[in-house]
This record gives sequence, C-alpha cells and structure tokens, in this order.
Amino acid sequence: MEEIAANLARIATRIAEAAQKCGRSPDEIELVAVSKTHAAEKVQAAVEAGQLLFGESRVQEARAKIPLLPSRLRWHFIGHLQKNKIRHALPLFELFHGIDSLALAQDMDRIAEEEGMRPRILLEVNLAGEASKHGFSPEPLRRDLETTLSLGRLTIEGLMTIPPLSPEAEASRRYFVALRELRDQLEREFNVRLPQLSMGMSGDFAIAIEEGATLVRVGTAIFGERSRPKRD
Ligand SMILES: *Cc1c(COP(=O)(O)O)cnc(C)c1O
Repeated sequence: MEEIAANLARIATRIAEAAQKCGRSPDEIELVAVSKTHAAEKVQAAVEAGQLLFGESRVQEARAKIPLLPSRLRWHFIGHLQKNKIRHALPLFELFHGIDSLALAQDMDRIAEEEGMRPRILLEVNLAGEASKHGFSPEPLRRDLETTLSLGRLTIEGLMTIPPLSPEAEASRRYFVALRELRDQLEREFNVRLPQLSMGMSGDFAIAIEEGATLVRVGTAIFGERSRPKRD
C-alpha cells in the first residue's frame, strides 16, 4: 500500500516533467487512476496519498466498489458502455470517456432525459482501424458529429483514444498526434470546443502529454498488474 503512494508521487513527477518539456502547465493535465479489478482497499490507499479521481471500465464492478469509498471521490467511466448499463452508470460517473457510436450517444441522451441528468462525454476514436476495438472511425465521426452535437442532454467535451498495444511507447505518438489533429479539425469544421483529449496509459502517458493529453488514464503504474486481461 505504501507502494501506491510512491507510485503516485513518481507519476506526478513524470507528468510535471513531460508538461515542462513541451511548455505546458502540469495543471492542464489530470491523472485518472484506473482502479478496475483492484479492491477498494487499494483505492483507499491512493486516496490517502491524495488521489481523488478514479477510472473504472465495468459498471457492475463500479456499482459494488464506489459505495465502499468516500463520497468525495470523482469517477470516470473509461470502458465500452453497454446500452443496458447506461441507467445504472449515469449517477456514478462525472465523465464518460468511451462513447463510441451514435446509437450509444442517442440511447444515453434519451435515458439521461428520463433520469433528469446531463452527462459529460468524450467520443472514442479508433484511429488504427483495429477491428477488435470500439470507437468511431474518423469519417463516420465527421458524418455523425452534427447529430451527436444536437443531443440536448449530452455535453461533448473532447475525444479519447486507445492506440494499438505496443511494447514501444514511441509507437503511440502518431496516434496521439492524429487525435489532436482530428480534434483541431473538428473544432474548426463544426465551430465547437472539444478541450479534452483523453490519451495515454501506464506505458505512454508522458508521450501523450507531449502531444496534448488533458486526461491520462493510468492503472498498472499505480496499482500494479491486474489479474484480468488489460484491455477489457
Ligand atoms: C485499463 C485501461 C487503462 C489503464 O491501462 P494501464 O496500462 O494499466 O495503465 C487505460 N485506459 C483504458 C480505456 C483502460 O481500459
């Protein structure tokens, strides 16, 4: 558990260094501590070290875990949200990173209306065209963005991506650049603000920060290895 505090301190230093390297303020970058598969006790150890923002990728797991922890914590949903979990997920999470289709956004908008909620979301982009991954491809995103923007209950705050798994952190850079450039283009074409870029995980968050990440999603480097597969 002391290790968690030491890991968080090390990551804070690395975030500050990466920000400094490219002339950004570390305050522009938020660390989402990805606690999926890890027990509430480990989350509590991170809380005691000062971390208050956490990420989960399964609604069932989050529903069990969140009530065990202090109510002042903030939670982001970072996984693929299934339609039949939207209603349960809405009150738990302040930001949904993985909204990956127009149909899901429409379902979320409708359910949020019924529940009287105003969810904040990021649109997930599948930049490498990997069949195994969720997310909009860039062209369908362009096609569907106007409709998505018109969904009155949702606030689209930016984009999220998960690059192809690679042992080389540098291999992620081109995807981070591509996400930022896509964001810049969409802001111009649609005259909207998409300030948030959710990109970077344990292996490549420093590079993501150099390329403009505002939210980095880090699990293993804080909590250690997970027993379940990494990308669930
Ligand atoms: C699990 C997960 C992470 C954390 O990955 P680590 O390599 O453990 O840092 C980040 N983002 C998403 C979407 C995840 O599912």
